[in-house]
Amino acid sequence: MSRFSKIGTLPPIEVFALNKAYLDDPHLDKVNLGIGAYRTDDGKPWVLPVVRKIEQLMANDEGLNHEYLPMLGLDSFCLAATKMVLRHDNPLVLSGLAFGVQCLSGTGALRVAAEFLCRQLGYTSVYSSEPSWENHHLIFKMSGFPNTRTYRYWDKVNRCLDFDGMLEDLNNAPENSVIILHGCAHNPTGVDPTEEQWKKIADVIKKKSLFPLFDVAYQGFASGDPDKDAWAVRYFASAGFELLVAQSFAKNFGLYNERAGNLVFVVNSQECIAPIKSQVSIIIRAMYSNPPNHGARIVASILNNADLTEEWKQCLKTMADRVRDMRILLRNKLESLGTPGNWQHITSQIGMFSYTGLSRKSYCKLFIAIVTKL
Ligand code: PMP
Repeated sequence: MSRFSKIGTLPPIEVFALNKAYLDDPHLDKVNLGIGAYRTDDGKPWVLPVVRKIEQLMANDEGLNHEYLPMLGLDSFCLAATKMVLRHDNPLVLSGLAFGVQCLSGTGALRVAAEFLCRQLGYTSVYSSEPSWENHHLIFKMSGFPNTRTYRYWDKVNRCLDFDGMLEDLNNAPENSVIILHGCAHNPTGVDPTEEQWKKIADVIKKKSLFPLFDVAYQGFASGDPDKDAWAVRYFASAGFELLVAQSFAKNFGLYNERAGNLVFVVNSQECIAPIKSQVSIIIRAMYSNPPNHGARIVASILNNADLTEEWKQCLKTMADRVRDMRILLRNKLESLGTPGNWQHITSQIGMFSYTGLSRKSYCKLFIAIVTKL
């Protein structure tokens, strides 16, 4: 009898199980619609040419070594990343009231944020959209949040944002609840609030003393323009909120497995900065001690050089344009096949995810219809 025999097996994490099923499937025309990773026209992963260029320079740089980074990460990366989301000339960044901490990609930034909010501020309730990226619940549960809840987001009848439902749920959330907001390209619906709606969301969050935590995993990937995609975060910051932003560089730099992420703190008092940094250092010290260098150095090299930043923006545009073109193709195909229903939402949604509004059963029917008519 093993001391481990009492341990039960959990169901697999769906997205990775589906990916494995895809890899194992010998079918020549297989298509992977599960995993949120960019593919080229040939269905291949894409290493951004500007990233490759930096990697080649790094490979030949005798000055680079494998010493530990500081616990809070590579300064040049954290500052450049913080500027990327808040703007390079944002007074909050220039005064130090907005600062970044390097984390293990977006997931790691959310985890450090959750541990910090639970341990240091004693927050106990977190709300994410219904539906949302399924990891939000898990991260907050594992970090000690007893109450992981949802606010209404998707109106499945009209296939759009359930704005009234969202505001009502936020209005009813207890004070100091953490509200996870997708900065842009909402996963999985592809539906974002308009600027006017963001302003109303901000009003409720302020009025009810809730705490905004932005999850920004797709900056620039949604519209092709990183400034446009950061509108909501910048609006909240300029409206005087104290907030956190979990930034991922997985998608917009194609650095999925390098785990480059940044957790931005926006605070309204200089006195808080040193205590926050010391407490976050302890969280990180006990979790993984020091972040990895490679991805962060690539991002820093690009964002700290104007020409390379331009090259990166071109790559972003290539990716965002292709995602948009695929949406148009899909909608055209569905319409030309005479598929019943309205498919306009396929092209009005943005980013890599689409909520088609189809049930499991109608998916199967639709799939068979497409396959047999092609
Ligand atoms: N947030 C959202 C909404 C996401 O879709 C993802 C990636 N699927 C992440 C965070 C985190 O991604 P990563 O840890 O790879 O940066």
